[in-house]
Amino acid sequence: MAGSTTFTMLKPDAVEANNIGPILAMINKAGFTVKAMKYMQLTKEQAGLFYAVHKERPFYGELVQYMSSGPIVAAILSKTNAVTDYRNLIGATDPTKADEGTIRKTFAKSIAANAVHGSDSDENAEIEPNFFFSALERF
Ligand code: UDP
Ligand code: MG
Repeated sequence: MAGSTTFTMLKPDAVEANNIGPILAMINKAGFTVKAMKYMQLTKEQAGLFYAVHKERPFYGELVQYMSSGPIVAAILSKTNAVTDYRNLIGATDPTKADEGTIRKTFAKSIAANAVHGSDSDENAEIEPNFFFSALERF
């Protein structure tokens, strides 16, 4: 079904703060099912490739440094309206602007170290998992 999956990463700040469990609990509680999952650390080169769309932005260097600074959890999530519903669950990029009850409001440390990634479109929700998962790693 189109639009039924999205891609997330639990970022280094969330992993470092022992928030993998609480964040996954919020994800499950909101009705998402895990279709693939991996615990790993990105190299600077890999983080740079994943965020290449932001190459010209002033925060790109810092973002790449940060996203390769420690392990992350990458996952494919399934639910009807997965992309939109997951963006609503994670909240605004800047946690000071995120709604109460969102993952970023609850767990983010700053606009850069903002706990989680979530795909911003159905197109990117198809592309982004290919960076992390083979067909054999999806269920
Ligand atoms: N980011 C940052 N400073 C900014 C904007 C974004 O450090 O001013 C980081 C932040 O970690 C964010 C990521 O870059 O999650 C990607 O930015 P985007 O605008 O795509 O935000 P998102 O889609 O993650 O909400
Ligand atoms: Mg984005």
